[in-house]
Amino acid sequence: MNVFSHPEFDNHEHVSFFCDPKTGLKAIIAVHNTSRGPALGGCRMFPYATDEEALRDVLRLSRGMTYKSALANLDLGGGKSVIIGDPRKHKTEDLMEAMGRFVEQLNGLYIAAEDSGTSVADLKIMARQTKHVAGISSHPGFDGKPSNGDPSPATAYGTFVGLQAAVRHKLGRSDLRGLKVAVQGIGNVGYRLARHLHEAGAQLWVNDIHQDQLDRAVAEFGAIPVGADEILSLPVDVIAPCALGAVLNDTSIPTIQAKVIAGAANNQLAHPYHDDVLMKQGILYTPDFVINAGGIIDVFHERTDHDANKVRAHVESIGETLEEIFTRSDRDQRPTGVIANELAEERFEHISAQKEQDTHQFAKAG
Ligand code: NAD
Repeated sequence: MNVFSHPEFDNHEHVSFFCDPKTGLKAIIAVHNTSRGPALGGCRMFPYATDEEALRDVLRLSRGMTYKSALANLDLGGGKSVIIGDPRKHKTEDLMEAMGRFVEQLNGLYIAAEDSGTSVADLKIMARQTKHVAGISSHPGFDGKPSNGDPSPATAYGTFVGLQAAVRHKLGRSDLRGLKVAVQGIGNVGYRLARHLHEAGAQLWVNDIHQDQLDRAVAEFGAIPVGADEILSLPVDVIAPCALGAVLNDTSIPTIQAKVIAGAANNQLAHPYHDDVLMKQGILYTPDFVINAGGIIDVFHERTDHDANKVRAHVESIGETLEEIFTRSDRDQRPTGVIANELAEERFEHISAQKEQDTHQFAKAG
């Protein structure tokens, strides 16, 4: 298994492998870039078929975190960890404690958070062995209400702010009354996004694989339930994918009638080139890793200041970052996802250059 010549290797600063035969833990931590700060990212547990698959995932996801944090103007770098195993079969307290010891060995270079296959409860077990764990403490949420560490309310609010910015930019309207929005997936984030939209006067169409979720949105927001095959192709103003990845693909894109795509789901584009296809079809795509950063912003503040007003203002800055991306995209006639990546690189490379200069000056002065 190659690391340095792996196709997903992107000058990652640190990759470490951990094995604890007593508990069966096999894990990898990848730290992509720490120029803005320690690398914060989820700890994922998944029954990877091969070690190579696990390495690929951790390299790709840690890099994504560097870009996401830089675009959210956080003093954080990008990292991720993966545990090889089935969370329903192999997860034990001892195994999570061993993972905590692994994280501790990195001395704060990497900070672990919840991800698929791990829960706040698991992270709390890890925290017995390390203080480098985030998203586990009760604190006032961005809305002033008590929060148990669940990032979904902040993610939903950031998505709402980002959707507003996209609508203002593409459709020239700030008032959402009567705006037609189709929400795919009304779970933790989608449901809260739907509530923000309903309160702002938007008309909603919803789809979910769970009937009870649909019923709740119909009862509370007067949303219209539609089938899975219709939700992305409705004659609405905005589609908000909030369920799964890869929903913007060769099959779905030609059927999209909405002029704006703004939702929280990760990895919405089946392939990076779909960004270009959407642009050529006159559709404004809001890059998912920019619009869904509310959760990581919330987790960051939980570790630093716990100040609800600061969190709220920080989450609202997602709108300004998106406006900058949309404006550059129009100016250069290049897709929003490409512009978002470039903007992220500017943000973390600039800090890195600044730090080098400071060190140089300090050395000279000394
Ligand atoms: P969730 O599991 O609570 O909600 C997802 C919803 O989508 C569920 O109601 C589920 O029934 C529904 N769903 C699943 N498959 C579907 C399908 N084929 N068609 C329609 N609906 C389907 O998850 P969540 O926390 O709300 O996250 C939603 C998306 O946002 C995910 O892609 C997640 O990675 C991303 N995201 C979430 C956060 C967060 O803070 N929770 C942060 C960043 C990104």
